[in-house]
Amino acid sequence: MGEFIKMTSTLQSLQKYLDKIKKEDGKINAFLQLNPNALQEAKAIDGKRQKGKLAGKIIAVKSNINVKGLNASCASKTLENYKATYDAYAIQKIKDEDGLIIGMTNMDEFASGSSGETSAFGPTRNPRNPSLIPGGSSSGSAAAVSADFCDMALGSETGGSVRNPASHCGVIGIKPSYGSVSRYGLIDLSMSLDQIGVFAKNIPDAGLLLDVIREKSEKDGIMERTEKINFNEIEKVPKNLTIGILDFPVGDESIENLIELKTNEAVAKYGWKTKKIKLSILDLAVETYYPLVYVEFFSGTRRFDGRRYGKKIEDSAGPEALRRILGGSEISKAEYHGRYYDKALKIKKLVEKEFENIFKSIDCLISPTVPKLPHKIGTKISVEEMYHYDALTIPANLAGNCAVSIPAGEIQGIPVGMQIICDKFQEQKMLQIARCFEKI
Ligand code: GLN
Repeated sequence: MGEFIKMTSTLQSLQKYLDKIKKEDGKINAFLQLNPNALQEAKAIDGKRQKGKLAGKIIAVKSNINVKGLNASCASKTLENYKATYDAYAIQKIKDEDGLIIGMTNMDEFASGSSGETSAFGPTRNPRNPSLIPGGSSSGSAAAVSADFCDMALGSETGGSVRNPASHCGVIGIKPSYGSVSRYGLIDLSMSLDQIGVFAKNIPDAGLLLDVIREKSEKDGIMERTEKINFNEIEKVPKNLTIGILDFPVGDESIENLIELKTNEAVAKYGWKTKKIKLSILDLAVETYYPLVYVEFFSGTRRFDGRRYGKKIEDSAGPEALRRILGGSEISKAEYHGRYYDKALKIKKLVEKEFENIFKSIDCLISPTVPKLPHKIGTKISVEEMYHYDALTIPANLAGNCAVSIPAGEIQGIPVGMQIICDKFQEQKMLQIARCFEKI
């Protein structure tokens, strides 16, 4: 009997989620496309004798990751009709382990945004409060997990695009260390920063998906380290930890208090020590990030010239993507003076150094994930305000460290995330610490 239940579980689970999507996604707009072959694929998985680690898990994928035969539109008119011709490496790994891809999710156009509002196909709404933004740019993936439309999801991170919407939607979001997940098949925003990341409803599931996609790929020269996660250890409380607490006035006292409360509870329960940490580069992070992104996005999008993928990006993309293209081309012209991109690269190195130093005396660094609560969909906010949603997430991208956002509680019914950053390639330790917080 037990065997029988297992045999039908992928299909049953898929059906349950498809019903829910049909009823509720009209309001949320988390998906841009459902996988037309999902039912067949679910049956094929259920019919296998030997099943992989992800058998029974239903996974949504951000629309900037190539899944063969599905539409990797990047939520842009530019790639509206582009069908992926191959699987990204992370997708190959998921399929090898019998994960089922339910569909492609909505996002900020070309992953450029922090609110989910720059999609060419309408904004995604926050399932926890549909009048609010879900965060971005992986808006649909976070919303799909939060709305219970799937078990897990893939997103991508350049400056916070997994952690930010995870925080606003009340789910787990992991940004892996740069060089630990293959970027093969991820459509770039900024290739020196981009990493595929994961969303899930709990740490063991998030760790499982991360572990599957963190395989070394010969197709990607950036791969550095990909140790396997030890799942027995995940449940163990790490001893003698020193928890770094970011000493930085976020400006929203209710968010600061909530994170402090949660941290104090954990520290008291597990007998950890704490240390206040000041980051000298914090004020520079956003200003360093954007020149890098503008220039790399400009350069990466030159292939969307209308010859191969249909539309020319300049004729078809929305204002935020165009701002970056225009900005990137201007910066590139001025670059022979070494003014912007070169300088930003130098500061990026300093951020790396500072992180290297602080992690000599602490095991993790804790802060709010996002410094403010999400705005109402459609509210006019300035470009600067939008860019500052990521003020606390960008440093880990610049340094290349791993980081996770976990739900810390709610303020006026709105989920608030706590960010835990660890040293490079310390995903195992990070998951253990996050699991301790999750259990409180
Ligand atoms: N919000 C940031 C941006 O617009 C981060 C995007 C991302 O991580 N993909 O660039």
